Amino acid sequence: MQTLQNFIGGQLSESHSGRTSAIYNPATGEQIREVVLSSPAETAEAVSIADKAFSSWSKTSPLKRARVMFKFKALLENNIDKLARMISEEHGKVYSDAVGEVTRGLEVVEFACGIPHLQKGEHSANVGSGVDSHSLMQPLGVCVGITPFNFPAMVPMWMFPIALATGNTFVLKPSEKDPSASLFLAELLKEAELPDGVFNVINGDKEAVDTLLTDPRVQAVSFVGSTPIAEYIYQTASAHGKRCQALGGAKNHCVLMPDADIDMAASAIMGAAYGAAGERCMALSVAVVVGDETGDKLVEKLKQQISQMRVGPGICDKETQENDMGPVISSVHQDKICQYISSGESEGAIVLVDGRDFKVQGYEQGYFVGPTLLDQVSPTMKVYQEEIFGPVLCVVRVTDYQEAIQLINDHEYGNGSAIFTRDGDTARQFGEEVQTGMVGVNVPIPVPMAFHSFGGWKRSIFGPLNMHGNDGVRFYTRMKTITSRWPTGVRMEHHDSSFVMPTM
Ligand code: NAD
Repeated sequence: MQTLQNFIGGQLSESHSGRTSAIYNPATGEQIREVVLSSPAETAEAVSIADKAFSSWSKTSPLKRARVMFKFKALLENNIDKLARMISEEHGKVYSDAVGEVTRGLEVVEFACGIPHLQKGEHSANVGSGVDSHSLMQPLGVCVGITPFNFPAMVPMWMFPIALATGNTFVLKPSEKDPSASLFLAELLKEAELPDGVFNVINGDKEAVDTLLTDPRVQAVSFVGSTPIAEYIYQTASAHGKRCQALGGAKNHCVLMPDADIDMAASAIMGAAYGAAGERCMALSVAVVVGDETGDKLVEKLKQQISQMRVGPGICDKETQENDMGPVISSVHQDKICQYISSGESEGAIVLVDGRDFKVQGYEQGYFVGPTLLDQVSPTMKVYQEEIFGPVLCVVRVTDYQEAIQLINDHEYGNGSAIFTRDGDTARQFGEEVQTGMVGVNVPIPVPMAFHSFGGWKRSIFGPLNMHGNDGVRFYTRMKTITSRWPTGVRMEHHDSSFVMPTM
């Protein structure tokens, strides 16, 4: 059994903690390897190495750092197939979806290649007589990333490309469920000539995380995961004086207006609800349908399309057509999703398509849950209120637009939302009123591109700055504003002290 180790100071580093966690192939239910769970001392050692590397890396020119990013980008492109297979094997998502995830991560690397421009700061000449002012965007020091299982390559790449390009050093603590991609990314960064110690991977669980959150040398913490942990991370990191952005869970709604193109909307909702087995923070888990007639049309179309879905392992033989949806991450999660479906049923939802007891031939031990469709869901039900993170779509029927928007705005999560309509005015009003951080108009998964920023509202985020884009650059830099005057110039008129607030 292969044991995955840490990557510290530019090389693999063996853990002696004596603790490990099993990694499974969710399609077969077999254990395929294990990963070390590092001790506090080993975690502190990774921070120490990153801290030492900071003094020289932070002083390299932005151009040099950008060139490392350009090399890394080329290496990613050459290794996209290998990475996608690695992700699919440990996570379960289908191969093409894994390629999509790597591509979205790679786009942040492309953004980071522009760091000489992004990190320029501002300059004003003559803010006072003979006085100039300019700002520096300086790196923070050791930054930490703690990432979830559902995007083992993309979410780390929301963080470290910008952190490294701005001159920070980084310690990544990936999910213990699928850490291979992170270790491989560390190898690619080394091949891209990133100096040793600038990027490190520490594998572990709460013990490693708590060490990172409290180590005084760590300056900033980026977290993505479930809301209870995000809240804990934000509070602990903040209490220890660190800058923190912690992105949490979601319950993404779409509103289907009676004037929408229902065929287009149904196909869009299918992909957004069941893609990656619903294990996306931007997955659509609630369709709010305005009017019963619209609702009846939608559920008929969804039922028909669900019946044609191919569910099976993420990687198929060359001869076999790729599946639309793979398994969920673990048997524990599989049971939890099935319990949610049962709770919806017992609270009065109608199970139109039931994914419990779903078996894939030849993969009977795999963690599969079939695509599930619940109709007549009401806001008081647990399936409506909580994040399920599985292939379960809830249909809530409302009478008008006002009721729909109220429902979304009353929900504790505020990650993404979407509206399907042909009416520009309704779409515009929705964009203005809805209390979510990312909004789609006839677009089911409105994930912002790398040069914009990703983040929700309400209990889907803790901390003021979103991931990547300009917010990412702001998060990983500290601004310093220098105001200067030169005494030898011909324009200096007097040298008297001034005791009032300078107004230039
Ligand atoms: P998780 O919260 O269980 O784990 C995330 C990370 O936190 C992992 O690295 C894990 O090892 C660590 N962790 C877990 N328990 C901890 C504890 N008690 N103390 C300290 N660290 C701990 O999340 P997950 O199951 O890996 O991922 C799924 C969740 O992530 C979903 O809720 C999903 O919505 C969310 N997510 C959110 C976004 C977003 O952008 N908002 C993106 C992806 C995933």
